[in-house]
Amino acid sequence: MPDARWPAAQMQAAGTLRQELPEGQMELTFEEFHPNGTRYDSPNAPIAVDYFPYNRCDVFKCSTCQCAVLKYTEYGGYYVDTRARLVDPEMIVARSAEA
Ligand SMILES: [Zn+2]
Repeated sequence: MPDARWPAAQMQAAGTLRQELPEGQMELTFEEFHPNGTRYDSPNAPIAVDYFPYNRCDVFKCSTCQCAVLKYTEYGGYYVDTRARLVDPEMIVARSAEA
């Protein structure tokens, strides 16, 4: 969504899903998690906090309806793109267990 559409007045920063980089790793993974054949932009894609793009998201809370929104800014070569997704708790996939 364009920044102009982001309802900043009612959105409060509530935290982040961004993770610390493991030592020796240059950047967070761009790997996605789609066990059921969904895609990056599928409405029913899992919210897998260990995977892209959720590992780069900040969490916002809406003061109007108490919904939670994940916001992520993509930096492309020639563009900056803000992406947001309403949180459906049933879609959240908990941190993967250590192997
Ligand atoms: Zn709301």
